[in-house]
Amino acid sequence: MPDPRISIFEGDITRIKVDAIVNAANSSLLGGGGVDGAIHRAAGPQLLEECRGLGGCPTGEARITHGYRLPAKWVIHAVGPVWRGGSHGEEALLASCYRRSLELADQAHAQSVAFPSISTGIFGFPKERAAVIALETCAAFLANNHSLEKVVFCCFDPDSVEAHRRALDHLGNPP
Ligand code: ADP
Repeated sequence: MPDPRISIFEGDITRIKVDAIVNAANSSLLGGGGVDGAIHRAAGPQLLEECRGLGGCPTGEARITHGYRLPAKWVIHAVGPVWRGGSHGEEALLASCYRRSLELADQAHAQSVAFPSISTGIFGFPKERAAVIALETCAAFLANNHSLEKVVFCCFDPDSVEAHRRALDHLGNPP
């Protein structure tokens, strides 16, 4: 039985009313394309101001800011790995992003969090594999956490939705 706190949603993460949304950021934290650009546009210029003060973030790590004009109170900026063929620690770095984001959400007393499919756009991480890592890391975290009430995987396209559904159905089963 998958954790009932986990759900999959197709749509724009900037519109979701949760306590914290996760941004697929780059290590400068100074904005970019894809979901990062959409989050900065929706949050307004104060988000970039706060990000400038953070001094960047290493790959596999995350930083938290306010959400400004977003419906979400917090934005957690997670820096996923660029896919370089799979033998450069990409899987561990992606798992680390999800884990660190959940830890920051928990520390901020967020009860609901939404994730985009980190690294699967411009950064080129294969979608199926990324979805398995996302779901497994999140389920393992939730097994030891009873404060978070809701984790949403916000997918932007039908392929991502399918990949996440399959990963959710197969949680805990060997490949
Ligand atoms: P990365 O550089 O980490 O690959 P991208 O922003 O290019 O980040 O892509 C990450 C994922 O976010 C992709 O699956 C992309 O389709 C998705 N995405 C893009 N815009 C949005 C949005 N507004 N809401 C949710 N997901 C989005």
